[in-house]
Amino acid sequence: MFYSTISILVGIAAFVDASCMHATSKLQRRVTPEGGVEVSTFGYTDLIGPLNWAALDAENSACTTGTVQSPINIDETIPITSEAPIINFPSVESAEFENLGSTVEVIVNGTTQFAGVDFELKQFHFHTPSEHRIHEEYYPLEMHMVHEAADGSGAVAVLAIVFDLSTDGSTTDLLTRVTEHLDEIATPGTVTETAALDFEELAHHLTTTPLFQYTGSLTTPPCAEGITFLLTEEPLPIDVATYNALKSVIKFNSRFTQNKLGNGNLLLLENNLQLGIETNAIHPSLAEAHEDPVMDAALALMSAIAAVH
Ligand SMILES: [Zn+2]
Repeated sequence: MFYSTISILVGIAAFVDASCMHATSKLQRRVTPEGGVEVSTFGYTDLIGPLNWAALDAENSACTTGTVQSPINIDETIPITSEAPIINFPSVESAEFENLGSTVEVIVNGTTQFAGVDFELKQFHFHTPSEHRIHEEYYPLEMHMVHEAADGSGAVAVLAIVFDLSTDGSTTDLLTRVTEHLDEIATPGTVTETAALDFEELAHHLTTTPLFQYTGSLTTPPCAEGITFLLTEEPLPIDVATYNALKSVIKFNSRFTQNKLGNGNLLLLENNLQLGIETNAIHPSLAEAHEDPVMDAALALMSAIAAVH
């Protein structure tokens, strides 16, 4: 009975954009007739915020049930890569710069070869504060460079770079160039062009400093799993003025820290707690949960509750 209720409720839920997948073949960018971009229908506050993403669209169920979700706290269990990626991000005279409401994003091309796989850079965007924490410490800004495998397999890899505020005014030139025309896209849905972009400094950092590697998920709906993350251990600098400018347009767009990889989804565990259902610290897969009549009922009830708003 629960499932019929859920399918109806979920079926009428709003279509949800996915900024982390934006511009990849899985979800084409959508340009409006007015020349702007469509604004994300998920957000970071209230009922469109991360606690309720699964209720926004049936495709977002992994946001509530996935067990290898991102972002995470990087602890001693997350290894450093043994090989550096091979990066080729060509300089450009300008690049399209969009305000999606959920982030600001730059559309660029480039390639990254890692672990024998060729990935194509599709876009990069920002989160403030950082989504990942490194040994519990967060950073003011995190940049995600979203790649898709060149072989068409649909595999996604994200180069993630954390930035820290400098005390001496030093900054990363790429951020200065990207944000030169930021005030032109202060309104969600608007588009402009960046100044000329040169990735040499960034590529040098990514290929000469330690990178954490793990397999997680998109940090935005649909929270799909199997995403390769390579995350810088050492932050790059950003000056206060550039940071404040980015923050004033992006606002807040950081998903809460997810459970340790392979452990239960925090939202599922929380709902089980509220329902008085005891669960192990290591949660079974969703399929296993559905085989358990008690868990199955709990999942159904949770989805029904989440879908009614
Ligand atoms: Zn992102």
